[in-house]
Amino acid sequence: MIFIDGDQSCVTIEDASHLPSETELIVDALSDKYADGNPRGFSAVSSGPGAEHTLFGCLNFSWYDPARRIHRFKQAGRGGIGSVLRKKRVKAIAVKHSAPITAESNGPADLQLLKEVGIAYNKEIRALDPKQNEMAVVGTTHLVPIMNQFDLLPVNNFKFGSHPDAEKLSSDIYRKKFHEGFDGCWLGCTIACSHGIKDFEPKTGPCKGQKVFVNGPEYETIAGLGSNCGIFDADYVTEANYYCDLYGLDTISVGTAIAFAMECFEMGLITNEATAGLDLRFGNAEAAMTLIHQMAKGEGFGVVVGQGIHKMKRHFNQQYGANLSVMEDIGMEAKGLEFSEYMTKESLAQQGGYGLALKGPQHDEAWLIFLDMVHNLMPSFEQKAEYLHWFPMFRTWFSLNGLCKLPWNDVVPENNKETKEPAKIIAHVSNYAKFFTAVTGEATTEKDIIRASERVYNFQRIFNLRMGFGKREHDTVPYRAAGPVTEEEYESRQERYDTQLRDLGFKPEGLSTETRIQTLRKHRETQYDRLKDAVYERRGWSKTGVPTLQKMKELGLDFGEVVDLIREAS
Ligand code: SF4
Repeated sequence: MIFIDGDQSCVTIEDASHLPSETELIVDALSDKYADGNPRGFSAVSSGPGAEHTLFGCLNFSWYDPARRIHRFKQAGRGGIGSVLRKKRVKAIAVKHSAPITAESNGPADLQLLKEVGIAYNKEIRALDPKQNEMAVVGTTHLVPIMNQFDLLPVNNFKFGSHPDAEKLSSDIYRKKFHEGFDGCWLGCTIACSHGIKDFEPKTGPCKGQKVFVNGPEYETIAGLGSNCGIFDADYVTEANYYCDLYGLDTISVGTAIAFAMECFEMGLITNEATAGLDLRFGNAEAAMTLIHQMAKGEGFGVVVGQGIHKMKRHFNQQYGANLSVMEDIGMEAKGLEFSEYMTKESLAQQGGYGLALKGPQHDEAWLIFLDMVHNLMPSFEQKAEYLHWFPMFRTWFSLNGLCKLPWNDVVPENNKETKEPAKIIAHVSNYAKFFTAVTGEATTEKDIIRASERVYNFQRIFNLRMGFGKREHDTVPYRAAGPVTEEEYESRQERYDTQLRDLGFKPEGLSTETRIQTLRKHRETQYDRLKDAVYERRGWSKTGVPTLQKMKELGLDFGEVVDLIREAS
């Protein structure tokens, strides 16, 4: 473990073999050892046993909740960063900093400006959050009924976008379960969306019958572990959330991977032999929970599922002769990462938001589904390309600055709709530019923000290229992300799809469902290909998806090795 003593300005690497394996228990133990009776001045990042046996290892970031007198946790899950840390033999990174955090802690260049922007922003959040998403009360669970209403909530491995039982997982259910109190995952946050459930009693696993505090669930966890696995039981989701956190497992990858295994089981692509006896039908909460415990222990079928969909497809094909092309269509992964929990079939921009994301299909880079599908803010390819350029850049900027992006777009100014580009919420972007100016003393505009990110983003793309993942073919999504794969899916939304075929000049009457599926597929795949062209052009990349030499020169990134890589790829 790495200990950063902010009081003594000293960093040490210490033996961690005596520490427990579970992420939350690690933090309790480290706090006892290092916090010196001031847990508010202590925080740790830890990985868990899930990281040792799966590729889904997440990191838990702790903060102390003085009202409840416990350490609370927020997870960074996508991409298996917990697994990376454990593979490097690091269990935790702990920080002690006893002095209270204030607006002056970072020595801002312009304290007055910082305070002005901060006060105005907080005032707006306090006034508008109760009228908009109620993040301070229900957090991201507010998305469940909305997604269900617009056919965007993944159900049964992304086959469908809504379900009559979705209300059993809705914000109204969790509103009653969440423990009341301030839930900012850091002191300065007014949105305070990090809710949790107090005194929850798990029915399984090592904490069975104990009273525990569950950090969450949030929307992605509910949709991934719940509806996408056909499980509409709020207590199951809460327990699965608790154990994923304790074990250090990314709830999104776990949910999407289990859903894939369930569909393979239901389709007969794998049988009891592969699952070691687990009856993996959609809706079987007991089997899903068993898998989660197995992933943490490195036992049974959990070991296979924990390797992710990309590897599962090959394993099922090689071991059991399962049809690979069917699994390529229904296996919801790209670049080896499982999809996060939004249905993209009717949103070309969101297909791009997932498929063209550098890390793989995660919602953090470009969450465009609502803006595209519901508000129709980007009807042309050029507009989609503009947003698929701008959103990843702005979100990269948040990461570069260690900021949460929710205050940018989960509360919006009342007049936002009347602005030129409402999707960008420019008034808030301008606030961030002012924050940056106030802290660093460097006059910064909205354009500078995007420019700073562009340099990083393009360099990341080159890094992907170097690792064998940065080309056009890697930006592809499984067909289920773009349209119906099975007859059951097509027929469940037949009116919609038939209308679309008619709009394209076909007469669906008289065509078999299979022919309708294939006709629609040809069209949707062509559209996605055109989207790639438009986005590459906007980003300054070649048709093969590689940043051009001219672009890298313009960004000041035309280093020798970069130039060689680009030339090799051309
Ligand atoms: S809005 Fe962001 S910083 Fe605030 S509590 Fe939620 S996740 Fe944490």
